[in-house]
Amino acid sequence: MEATAGNAPHAVELVALSKRYAPGTAPAVDNINLRIPAASYCCLLGPSGCGKTTTLRMIAGHETVTGGDILLENRNITRLGAAARGTAMMFQSFALFPHLSALDNVAFSLKMKGVSRAERHRRAQELLDRVAMGHLAQRKPGELSGGQQQRVALARALITQPRVLLLDEPLSALDPFLRIQMRAELRRWQKELGLTFIHVTHSQEEAMALADLIVVMNQGRIEQVGPPRGVYNAPATEFIARFMGGHNVIQTSAGKLAVRNDHMQIAPAGALAEASAGLPGTVTDVEYQGSYVLLGLQAQDAAGASSVSVMLPEARFVARPYAPGDAVHLSWAQADAHPLQA
Ligand code: ATP
Repeated sequence: MEATAGNAPHAVELVALSKRYAPGTAPAVDNINLRIPAASYCCLLGPSGCGKTTTLRMIAGHETVTGGDILLENRNITRLGAAARGTAMMFQSFALFPHLSALDNVAFSLKMKGVSRAERHRRAQELLDRVAMGHLAQRKPGELSGGQQQRVALARALITQPRVLLLDEPLSALDPFLRIQMRAELRRWQKELGLTFIHVTHSQEEAMALADLIVVMNQGRIEQVGPPRGVYNAPATEFIARFMGGHNVIQTSAGKLAVRNDHMQIAPAGALAEASAGLPGTVTDVEYQGSYVLLGLQAQDAAGASSVSVMLPEARFVARPYAPGDAVHLSWAQADAHPLQA
């Protein structure tokens, strides 16, 4: 499966890329093809062990490839060293050196390259100014807030002038409140800098909030590629429907369907002509969620008894409440039912 965006140049292209850590074992990455448009925010998303970190590390040059190629702006970088690729990496919880000032953290890779002290400090200061951290250049990471540390980490990654920034679960160690703040900031910086970001996450919520392009991986393969709304609204497979959440997977005589739980229609049993398409069901749980009420149900579809959920706007629930044990009729508009590939 491939993602393209018209004729826009591609920042990164993966061609039949594979990784097998040991002979005779299942591939961690299995023959994937992907095009990531320039200046886009791409999230590699999937459950633990699906191969997303291995893919990112191969792009970074931190892991060898078993087969296939990696192109960066049409340049084959598959066998180049990490420092020669035009990529930079931002790690979990930013991995700043605690004993160095913000300025020296940012200047660190230039020091390793032998750039003079005056020149590396000048360039580090310029980048800190760019991310609105110039006035705190002498502070150590422990004297900075989470958001300020993220900006220092970003400046440190940018000092090598990468074309592509690779982010390995950068928000996973933060508390939920800070994580939401920080992801908004990452997204803002990506747009402002006009760089391509490739961000690994196992959180579908994070991917939907950040990405222009979501790449969902499963068992070393790419299962679906598309913008967040495309992937969420029209999951291609049962795996995607269940992994993205918020969907019911319903077996009908014609095949399997995904229907978003906020697109389900519910009525008391007998209130509708039972001939209309749909399923009989029984309410099992009622959960108040603020602006919505989530109903859990057991429904009878072509596979037998299935768990189904229905998300009702609070006002609709209050106007016509349901309680555990109620017999109901569930239905959906044809346009809201997405057939799933077998
Ligand atoms: P997580 O979110 O848990 O990091 P992931 O989707 O990033 O998962 P990978 O870390 O890419 O997945 O791992 C993919 C597969 O490769 C897994 O089965 C994992 O056990 C295996 N694997 C990863 N690194 C190595 C390694 N260095 N040696 C051997 N096997 C590895």
